Amino acid sequence: MIRQSSSQRYDVIVVGAGNAALTAAISASQNGARVLVLEKAPEAERGGNSRFSGGLFRFAYEGIADLKPLRQGLPPREWERVEVGHYAPDRFFDDLMRVTQGQANRELSQLLTQQSYPTMLWMTELGVVWEWTELWSVRGDDQLRFNPGSILEARNKGVGLMEYLFAAAQRAGVDIAYQARMTGFLQDGTDQVTGVRVRTPQGTEDAQAGAVILASGGFEANAEMRARYLGPGWDQVKVRGTRFNTGETLRMALDIGAKPVGHWQGCHATPIDGNAPPVGDLRLTDRTNRLSYPYSIMVNSLGRRFVDEGEDLGGYTYARMGRAILAQPGALAYQIFDQKTVHPLEERYATGSPVVGNTIREIAHKLNIPTDTLVHTVEEFNAAVQRGHFDPAIKDAKGTLGLEPPKSNWALPIDTPPYVVYSATCGITFTFGGIQIDSQGRVIDTEDNPIPGLYATGEITGNFFFHNYPGGSGLLRGAVFGRIGGANAAAEALGK
Ligand SMILES: Cc1cc2nc3c(=O)[nH]c(=O)nc-3n(C[C@H](O)[C@H](O)[C@H](O)COP(=O)(O)OP(=O)(O)OC[C@H]3O[C@@H](n4cnc5c(N)ncnc54)[C@H](O)[C@@H]3O)c2cc1C
Repeated sequence: MIRQSSSQRYDVIVVGAGNAALTAAISASQNGARVLVLEKAPEAERGGNSRFSGGLFRFAYEGIADLKPLRQGLPPREWERVEVGHYAPDRFFDDLMRVTQGQANRELSQLLTQQSYPTMLWMTELGVVWEWTELWSVRGDDQLRFNPGSILEARNKGVGLMEYLFAAAQRAGVDIAYQARMTGFLQDGTDQVTGVRVRTPQGTEDAQAGAVILASGGFEANAEMRARYLGPGWDQVKVRGTRFNTGETLRMALDIGAKPVGHWQGCHATPIDGNAPPVGDLRLTDRTNRLSYPYSIMVNSLGRRFVDEGEDLGGYTYARMGRAILAQPGALAYQIFDQKTVHPLEERYATGSPVVGNTIREIAHKLNIPTDTLVHTVEEFNAAVQRGHFDPAIKDAKGTLGLEPPKSNWALPIDTPPYVVYSATCGITFTFGGIQIDSQGRVIDTEDNPIPGLYATGEITGNFFFHNYPGGSGLLRGAVFGRIGGANAAAEALGK
């Protein structure tokens, strides 16, 4: 039951309790609003996809000096061993445009990239503790080399991130109701959003507010909507995160006139362990990911390669690699490593059960793959590998020649047994289609006007990601527009 009297009316209601929601709630509270967060999940499962995440935030910085305020107290010795390069807002913007084939909304993308560093500083002030990410970084004996832009993740990943944010929300005086599912909007005669209808275990009630912020995720956990929007095969994919992001608030927003924008047939989907559970498990969080494929060759169950595993740095290909695997028979792929390439494997592979063999024939037999085809695939690949220096930290241009599909970087012959093979299938992370917001976080309607009293942030918003995605941008997008939308919702609700 949500306790509310007319004298204690909330100024701002935030729907959802992930990263986007809590940053919005805290921002609204910092701007003077009395805030209520409605979380559909029970308390034990709170935190949405954000809690399942790797906690990686992509952000712009000019150099190592910008990183120091984010990791205060690190000994000078530690700063000497890291190589971070620089990643100006323009470079982040260019990356975003490049991987989205120029379709990301330019104004919102400018804001996202320019506000990325100030938002990281703000989150640090809120108490989020950051650590070096292992994703796409290379650790030498006394050196840490990062892929620029992909430097920091929250300590203890998504679980840690959400612990820090729930603590910050509590300190900010934000109220949170669990098992509180939004089931509809309240609007007055002018279409002003005046609150939401909420279903709790005690029944249905109306919660009034001066402004509402939708931060309730995408529709990735809804098989019917996946089939309808993403297309054939997507209803059966595994879901990497929360079971609660079923898209009903997105539908409700469309029903009151919010403008659908972005890539409705597109989503973020990665290679995950072929034996991963059908929906995210908080004991595993993101550990089912299988992202070291750039150092492997990937074959399907017919024994054939089907993709350029080394087309770009992993952070720029992994989000569309799930789709490539889904298109294979049985939505299954095998990542084949030899003893030269098992060393750079991400530590998450330790949770898997690889098939190991001393010959490719043995591997084919164990995986029930046509033997002659797999042997031919490996021989043909090995013969096409060009000379060069293998360097996992950069695009090393050590590729293949005359092979279709090519492997553009990190091509080493598969010739040093025992061979180690991990199965992978497609796991959906989040959906790209959503509702239009403007630079103030206001929801825009189909006549291109703001819907009074309605804001949104995070996965529920569209127009940011198309076809692909630069790793670490999802959490950042939620926080940047959570902070902006929270402040503006508070101002609207308080009549400022
Ligand atoms: C395994 C995994 C790893 C990832 N790793 C990263 C990473 O390292 N870096 C990165 O940037 N991104 C990562 N992502 C993507 C990232 O998690 C999401 O983009 C981001 O968390 C979305 O935040 P959000 O707040 O919009 O949604 P969520 O965190 O999913 O929150 C949505 C909330 O809305 C609630 N909700 C839904 N419907 C209702 C309703 N009707 N009423 C009330 N509440 C409702 C849900 O219960 C949930 O609390 C990862 C995702 C997964 C699944």
